Amino acid sequence: MPERLLGRLPLLGLLVAALFWVLDAFVDVSLFGTHDTFTEALLKPNSHELWMRCVVIVLLLAFAWHARRLGGQLIDSMNRLNAQEQELDGHRDMQHVLRRQADELNRQVMRQANEQEELRKLAYIDPLTGLYNRRRIEEILDASRLTEQLSGTGLGVLLCDIDHFKSVNDEFGHFAGDRTLVRIGQLLKDHFRRGDAVGRWGGEEFLVVLPNLTQAEAEVISENFRARIERETHPPKGKLTVSLGLAMIRPDETAESLLKRADRALMLAKQNGRNRLYICQCDPGMEESSSLAGCKPFSFALG
Ligand code: GH3
Ligand code: MG
Ligand code: MG
Repeated sequence: MPERLLGRLPLLGLLVAALFWVLDAFVDVSLFGTHDTFTEALLKPNSHELWMRCVVIVLLLAFAWHARRLGGQLIDSMNRLNAQEQELDGHRDMQHVLRRQADELNRQVMRQANEQEELRKLAYIDPLTGLYNRRRIEEILDASRLTEQLSGTGLGVLLCDIDHFKSVNDEFGHFAGDRTLVRIGQLLKDHFRRGDAVGRWGGEEFLVVLPNLTQAEAEVISENFRARIERETHPPKGKLTVSLGLAMIRPDETAESLLKRADRALMLAKQNGRNRLYICQCDPGMEESSSLAGCKPFSFALG
């Protein structure tokens, strides 16, 4: 619409100029009486009037032409502004879409991180007790064994088996048995040092990996745990005891051999009345075929 009006501005200028010519002729006849008739004033103006009318008409036409040029520039600027606004709207829309996509991506990353954490837990954590599962505690033992071979600062493994655990299940049901396992697992974690690793070895058996300590220290910390379990009350059963088998690593000993010796010590603790700690001695020359070889019960006098 404004473009059409602008296009007609020169024509409008011409029309106004013609109208001015006619009006001036009319004024000349009626006010100044310079001519006898209107036709004469219109068609034969004297040189002074002709000159004045021409100047005014030229000015009118110049104004119309200039107004058209300015109007054209104004319309161009407005069009450019509109186009830029549209482009800006487009950018804003794009920004909005990108932000939504980034949010979605963030949510996906968080979901994946949570899923990975869940998978890690499934792979490494015993679901009932929250302790390391057998696979993980074996990995930890392997790593600790390698470290010990370099540092030579001592490494012990302790097997812990709840005595007569079956009776908890039989008397109070499986769920009560589960709660007891969780409780003993928690007590193990609380009792041993921050750097020790506690895992569920299977059923009602637990394995503790004890790095950087002497046999005497391992014996005392293990015996204190046995005494603590004996002393405390464990609902719903009330009294509970644990049997413990401890072994300290020998130079160049495999994890399997170390575990076997701890198991042998545990077996002896069971056979000799339960609720006790047996230690498989660190004697490289020991004859391993005998089930009693190198094992001793914990004693403060001997330990
Ligand atoms: P011992 O003193 O010789 O170790 O006797 P025990 O009764 O503790 O050992 P036994 O091997 O006879 O029984 C172990 C029981 O542990 C049998 C099994 O049902 C129970 N058990 C194993 N895993 C779980 C578990 O995850 N939850 C519960 N509630 N019971 C379990
Ligand atoms: Mg058992
Ligand atoms: Mg048992």
